[in-house]
Amino acid sequence: MRRARAEILGRIAAAARSVNRSPEGIALTAVSKGQADDAVDAMLDAGQLIFGENRVQEATARWTHRRSVRQGLELRLIGPLQTNKAREAVALFDVIETLDRDRLAAALAAAASGLGRAPKILVQVNTGEEPQKAGVAPAGVVDFVKRVREVHGLEPCGLMCIPPAGEPAAPHFALLSDLADALALPVRSMGMSADFEAAVRFGATHVRVGSALFGSRSQ
Ligand SMILES: *Cc1c(COP(=O)(O)O)cnc(C)c1O
Repeated sequence: MRRARAEILGRIAAAARSVNRSPEGIALTAVSKGQADDAVDAMLDAGQLIFGENRVQEATARWTHRRSVRQGLELRLIGPLQTNKAREAVALFDVIETLDRDRLAAALAAAASGLGRAPKILVQVNTGEEPQKAGVAPAGVVDFVKRVREVHGLEPCGLMCIPPAGEPAAPHFALLSDLADALALPVRSMGMSADFEAAVRFGATHVRVGSALFGSRSQ
């Protein structure tokens, strides 16, 4: 795991330097969904502290104990969130990357005040406007972020996207960066195993890498 992680960090740094960015401006989120516990523990031992999960229940089972014995962990929810799991998500995660509708914003705000815990929030953007995919349509992002602030009292710190499979990702990364710039939001979560270097070149602050780091998912 140490070698795989060093290799990915090296590729992130090279991509950053190729566009005159500082590698320090890009965080590696290790996507541990579907990976075996011992692989996750090896990644922790290699020094990795930021992890992404896409299911609340799987993540709660895996991380509740680990987080109580590890300092400095950052857990990020990168999968779709049902309103009825908002409370459990707020209780576990440090960052929720997939806010995309008013009802969920209301549920997250209620959970945050009920639990006295305020995870950072990213708004997911459906840059490819795919009907089956979660996320706010690009044309609605500015209004949605405004409502999240003014109606729901949450302060999003950035945007996240998952480009359509089977087409070049770069235009989607460029679009997400432009939207984040327009809103003056600092965080841009984009890029996965196949395209994280391109995402870095287009301004990603967080790349979400699973299989290129751990090997293919077993579960
Ligand atoms: C699974 C997943 C990833 C990681 O995908 P890999 O191709 O294995 O790197 C990144 N982001 C999201 C939202 C995911 O669901």
